[in-house]
Amino acid sequence: MTNIIKITWQQVADESKKIAFRHAHRNVFNVYGVPQGGASLAVMVAKELNLPLVEEPQAGRTLIIDDLVDSGTTLERYHKQGFIVDAGFRKPTSPHHLAPLAQTLDGWLTFPWERNDGDPTDAVVRLLQHIGEDPSREGLLDTPKRVVKALKEMTEGYAKDPAEVLGTTFNETQDQMVVVSGIEFASMCEHHMLPFTGVATVAYLPGDCIVGLSKIARLVEMYARRLQVQERMTNQIAQAIEEHLGAKGVGVVIHGTHSCMANRGIKKRATMTTSCLLGEIRDEHSARHEFLDLALNTGL
Ligand code: ZN
Repeated sequence: MTNIIKITWQQVADESKKIAFRHAHRNVFNVYGVPQGGASLAVMVAKELNLPLVEEPQAGRTLIIDDLVDSGTTLERYHKQGFIVDAGFRKPTSPHHLAPLAQTLDGWLTFPWERNDGDPTDAVVRLLQHIGEDPSREGLLDTPKRVVKALKEMTEGYAKDPAEVLGTTFNETQDQMVVVSGIEFASMCEHHMLPFTGVATVAYLPGDCIVGLSKIARLVEMYARRLQVQERMTNQIAQAIEEHLGAKGVGVVIHGTHSCMANRGIKKRATMTTSCLLGEIRDEHSARHEFLDLALNTGL
């Protein structure tokens, strides 16, 4: 397993002092940080040396700074052009002639500026810029926050467990099919992260127990609020009812409209119907017909 080393800002600052010390009496007039990793370190080194930072390296004048010499490809390019190069860190396997005095560490280095896992709104800002928008205009100012919040809400089904949703049951011997129809849901396709909406019909032949109506709707909701494909969602609902209620038979039919098909690609609105039949609802002719007659004509 790779050894993961978290470099701290303090370590970066310490290395910047050592780099500055190494170059204090050399003929360098300004400092350039190799994008993007070298930038922070270069700012610190320039400050230590009291030298200006430049946007473009200048032949014979500029000290080139990178955060890490790994295979050495980047710094080698500058070295070949005659620049003085240095870095904060190196690997035991890095070429000897590039930044030989950098601190040697063996492992997978992560730098403080690479750790932004605390703020997913940054990713939304990037996407807005990518489509040519200005994330700082008034209408978009709070959009990244809203997008992250909506996404969180639309995927909150991950945190729920079918055993809990179907946890409260009533003992009841009942050999009639229980059907809950017209359960509306909104889900999100895992291929485009675009919404698909629809209606589910769920039926089961009870074993020894039944469950409250609202629990079936909550089960649909739980599986809908994840990144999904409609086929899998249909199977998951049926299997959960078979497993957690001990039902003798289960039938689930879902009619869904996918915005990734309606709004992009082929740009056609169409309804997709998926079904999953288990146990007696699958195997017994009359039960199968009773359910399918009902389900295929509901919710359209
Ligand atoms: Zn899709």
